[in-house]
Amino acid sequence: MYEPNGVWDTILLKNKLRNIKILRSLKSRIFLILLIVGLIPCVSMRYAILQNYEQRAVNVKISDVSTQLRILANHLITYHYLQDTSSEVINAELDQLSSLYDGRVLVINNDLKVVKDTYGISENKTIISEEVVRCIKGENTSRYDRNNGYVEMTIPITETVTLGGNEKEAKERKEIVRGVMLVSASTDSISVTMEILSRKALIVEVIVIIATTIVSVLAAKILIRPFEKITEALDEAQEGYSSDPISVTDCVETEHIGDAFNRVLGRMKVLDTSRQEFVSNVSHELRTPITSMKVLADSLISQKDVPVELYQEFMEDIAEEIDREDEIITDLLSLVKMDRTAADLNITEVDINALVELIMRRLRPIAQNRDVEVVYESVRPVTAAVDEVKITQVISNLVENAIKYNKEHGWVRVKLDADHQYFSVEVADSGIGIPAESIDHIYERFYRVDKSRSREIGGTGLGLAITRSAILMHRGTIKVESIEGEGTTFTIRIPLKYIPV
Ligand code: ADP
Repeated sequence: MYEPNGVWDTILLKNKLRNIKILRSLKSRIFLILLIVGLIPCVSMRYAILQNYEQRAVNVKISDVSTQLRILANHLITYHYLQDTSSEVINAELDQLSSLYDGRVLVINNDLKVVKDTYGISENKTIISEEVVRCIKGENTSRYDRNNGYVEMTIPITETVTLGGNEKEAKERKEIVRGVMLVSASTDSISVTMEILSRKALIVEVIVIIATTIVSVLAAKILIRPFEKITEALDEAQEGYSSDPISVTDCVETEHIGDAFNRVLGRMKVLDTSRQEFVSNVSHELRTPITSMKVLADSLISQKDVPVELYQEFMEDIAEEIDREDEIITDLLSLVKMDRTAADLNITEVDINALVELIMRRLRPIAQNRDVEVVYESVRPVTAAVDEVKITQVISNLVENAIKYNKEHGWVRVKLDADHQYFSVEVADSGIGIPAESIDHIYERFYRVDKSRSREIGGTGLGLAITRSAILMHRGTIKVESIEGEGTTFTIRIPLKYIPV
């Protein structure tokens, strides 16, 4: 994909910034943000105040000088100074003005000739500058030269004349520009004040920088403290010093982290307890056949002259116990496999009708042995994307249970149906049923309603746990309805298409 250079640059810059270790720390980030937020107003205020002062001071100077010049210009006209520059009064006034403003005053007539220069160097010279020409046309001009430290301004020397008309008629008054005064006044005093102000502002700025730095460091420390506390508490919990729930109530965020961790801890404790329970159940279940074998073997060893028939009988019992042990181990292995992730599923398109029919064929002889009638009904042809081995195990377990926990002359009905999303298998029986208080427990590992009966008919208590895990791996559901003494119906629903997470 095309990425403009700018975007790449930004991404690279972001990565570079992320790699700078100090910027990855929340403490440093808080510190930097507070510092910047504190300093920007301080620096910009200094700049704004100095700028504002300079502008105001220059304006005041210009207006001061121009007031003086306007008065002087009137005197120049009164004393006809443009025609004759010998007036001592005016010369003194001009010198006074130039020394007052530490500057230079040029008096120029309307032929652009300098009639008086307080510096005495440009007299009788002709001046052609834009400002002077504009001023001759009646316009005041002023210009501030910061680098050289002066303001230059021009002001027209005007004479008011009364034109024509007799006494009865209105007389017309007109201002005629007779010359120009060009003045440059030093702004050194402004620069000096600016310098003093700037120095003072710098001192304030340094104080503010130090204060902001201290406040930022403290604030960053205080804000981060709850997170440090929670890290300490987590470390303690991890090292096993404390099994108490974590509680850091300094701020809402740490309280949430603590709550989330306590929930995880609680779940881990439940898992740990169930694992311990499982291990002790497994040991118990595995030990039962071994104990029986030991009893049988011991009784043979302790007796003398044991008849061959008894040997035969006991050895058959021992073989049965070995089969049982084998059955438990096989079921345990299946269960462990189901506990793995769904990635272990081997999904293929399976003809479910054919699959159920095959299971029925395999289980019919067992049903016949127990005098149970098995009926299979398929509503429609069904193919689904499932793990064939696991789904076979699910349906086999349910049908086998329906046969095992049945009555004499009982029946088992298996019905396969599907809608556009799921297929369902219903396994109903006319068996002994499950008591209401046991219904919630039948999917637990090693749970059996009637332990001795289940053992008699070869149950391990793991079948429904395996069945449920396999169904959940396929994102399906299992439901059971049962009336004690009348029968049980298990219904499973499995998606036709397997949707990985
Ligand atoms: P088991 O290996 O003992 O059959 P399961 O996990 O398959 O173990 O079943 C758990 C318990 O649920 C059984 O011991 C039995 O008491 C009860 N159960 C399961 N299916 C049925 C059924 N169809 N009818 C009556 N009880 C059943």
